[in-house]
Amino acid sequence: MTVEFICVGTEILLGSIVNTNAAYLSEKCAALGLSCYYQTVVGDNEERLTFVLKMAMERSDIVILSGGLGPTEDDLTKEAAANVCGRALKMHEPSKLAIERFFAERGTTPTDNNWKQAMLPEGAIVMENRNGTAPGMIIEADSARLILLPGPPRELIAMFEESVEPYLAKLTNQVICSKTVKICGVGESRAETMVKDLIDAQQNPTIATYAKSGEVHIRVTANGEDKKAALKLVKPVVKELKSRFGNAVYSTEEDITLEKAVAELLSANKLTVTCAESCTGGMLSARLVSVPGISDVYKTGVITYSNKAKRRLLGVKKSTLQKEGAVSAKTAEEMAKGAALTFKADAAVSITGIAGPDGGTEEKPVGLVYIACYVKGNVIVKKYQFTGTRDMVREASASAALSLLRECILEYYSKVTFGKEE
Ligand code: ATP
Ligand code: MG
Repeated sequence: MTVEFICVGTEILLGSIVNTNAAYLSEKCAALGLSCYYQTVVGDNEERLTFVLKMAMERSDIVILSGGLGPTEDDLTKEAAANVCGRALKMHEPSKLAIERFFAERGTTPTDNNWKQAMLPEGAIVMENRNGTAPGMIIEADSARLILLPGPPRELIAMFEESVEPYLAKLTNQVICSKTVKICGVGESRAETMVKDLIDAQQNPTIATYAKSGEVHIRVTANGEDKKAALKLVKPVVKELKSRFGNAVYSTEEDITLEKAVAELLSANKLTVTCAESCTGGMLSARLVSVPGISDVYKTGVITYSNKAKRRLLGVKKSTLQKEGAVSAKTAEEMAKGAALTFKADAAVSITGIAGPDGGTEEKPVGLVYIACYVKGNVIVKKYQFTGTRDMVREASASAALSLLRECILEYYSKVTFGKEE
């Protein structure tokens, strides 16, 4: 069964508001096993709305519209839908009463145009709006089912969950389940190559890769008659992905982030950690500290931005800075070792790089970052070449540092089976 969305509002076309309703509806409908092939945004214009509505009804079984149900002149979704379906608008008494009650509860009186919201297409299934005055409605027309929802997300979400979801679940008899395999330390293109055969052969479950800053997420989604049936389809694929990526998979749980996984690894191995950051200015520490309970393992972090700070706080050698420069493998290594020694930590991570937009040279371009990781005497130093804006380089550096710390700990405990570097 297919569904498509039409989000009505000139504000969305102009970029004044972000179309969060579309994202919400997409996720919810996918979870119900509905296939969505089209989404449209159209302004508050009856002619153009009528045009896209007719097209949507021809090609999809269900059309969900959001917005334009309000009392003002430019709210014309209901009028257009009623017209297209050949239904007259009639006063719907229960909705009229609900509007009266809504205003009475707030100690105000409705204006004349509020009654417009109680004029509903004949034969429509009416859905109460607990958070506003515009009722929602379902029109079961010959070619498609139309579902009209108010634009404000608070109203749309409540109405969807209360009335639309049960209606759609009955229609589809389907449930969707998905699992995300979260991978770090393997680049996006390499990860995609490693699962290309699975992606090419996908049907149910579907497999999609998403690149995040320094991570790759592979989402496996299946639909079935019930949750159990859908999960049964998801499980073998997740197992296959885990075996292909080995320890590069840090979690398959929705609520586990990379920093959380790293924090758990530190705790499990009773390792204290310290961070010595230059271009990231504390971003790595901030990500670790975002994890509740981190105080068991994280005691100190420093930002050593200047050469002087690197020397004074971390004991980086003057000769290293002079010969190799602040952005170099040797400096990164001395920063990590120095931090571990100074702050008496089992593990230390250092970051030094050129975030840009200025300061790059041919030899050391913007985006060049060295990260060193020390775990109980073992040190790994890696060179990275990131692209993008200053913030993108800094974010990617913090993610790479978390990933390297994880890799270094696993390696220390000889558990590493990472894919080779690109
Ligand atoms: P109202 O009674 O408030 O006029 P409505 O159903 O007519 O509701 P719109 O006028 O289209 O809806 O939009 C009202 C507000 O709802 C917008 O200003 C915006 O804040 C929010 N909104 C509308 N559409 C969307 C959308 N697709 N995604 C996120 N927010 C939206
Ligand atoms: Mg409106």
